[in-house]
Amino acid sequence: MRLVLVVLVAVLQEENARYILPTVPDVVHPPVPDDVKVDDDLAYMMEDPDPEVTPGLFQGDMAMTNEIYNYWRVGIRWDVFPEKLWDNGTVPYVISPIYEPAEQVTIMKAIHILNFMTCIRFVPWDGRTKDYLLIWPIKYPKGCWSFVGRFGGAQIVSLQAPDSTGPNCLGTEGRAVHELMHALGIFHEQSRWDRDKFVKIHMDNIIPQFKSNFDKQSLENTTYSFEYDYDSIMHYGKNFFSKGKGKPTITPKMPGVKRLGQRKALSKGDCLKLNDLYGCFDNPRLRRKYYTLCQFMGI
Ligand SMILES: [Zn+2]
Repeated sequence: MRLVLVVLVAVLQEENARYILPTVPDVVHPPVPDDVKVDDDLAYMMEDPDPEVTPGLFQGDMAMTNEIYNYWRVGIRWDVFPEKLWDNGTVPYVISPIYEPAEQVTIMKAIHILNFMTCIRFVPWDGRTKDYLLIWPIKYPKGCWSFVGRFGGAQIVSLQAPDSTGPNCLGTEGRAVHELMHALGIFHEQSRWDRDKFVKIHMDNIIPQFKSNFDKQSLENTTYSFEYDYDSIMHYGKNFFSKGKGKPTITPKMPGVKRLGQRKALSKGDCLKLNDLYGCFDNPRLRRKYYTLCQFMGI
């Protein structure tokens, strides 16, 4: 394992050496729709704040412009925004050299999982391609956050490294997978139009300023032909944006469902969704391959 790690880091350093990275300022201003701008201080009101719950970002961890947001409220449609999908399912990326080797390995694990379980290909940036992901521990706003779909140019995926307060976004590869899935164009599972059949949203338990984080999509936005997925890596946890202990904001309606969301691995549904969105099922041979992978490897 140690050898693999050393080799991987050597490869990473080699890759980073081939081009000049853009300058990333300490403070960036990810676009936020006017409707969802909130006070930064609210983070301190939250019980057990989660690194995905960055105040002022759409649904806690998504950067989004007014244009997309206004469209999204009536349903973002890939036929209207085809440029949000990555061409040929190819996603160039750069991992910040600021990360410690072990942190780089965690991010690489997330990338390998997505490359293995889908026909999407994350490839090291060649220093020339215009659009690519810049995976960087942004100082402000810190936390785990991402744009939704391809934004254009050097596109930040912010993954806060572990520190004295906790593992933040890199305790395991799960949170990195979650943010990379946003960058691929996937929204939160509980914002599906049909979610009220499956979960109850406890509006009284949500910090008022964050109620809009629990909005749902309209029917026109149903690009997923798969069932509601309680196990999704894109599902909120029970206490996200809660006013306090013992006040869940979201609970399952189906008997027997114990868990809401997880940040460990792709669920079967996540895997199917991604492959479907990127046309991996169009070819019969690939369809068999990726369906089988999703069935066996998805949790
Ligand atoms: Zn998210």
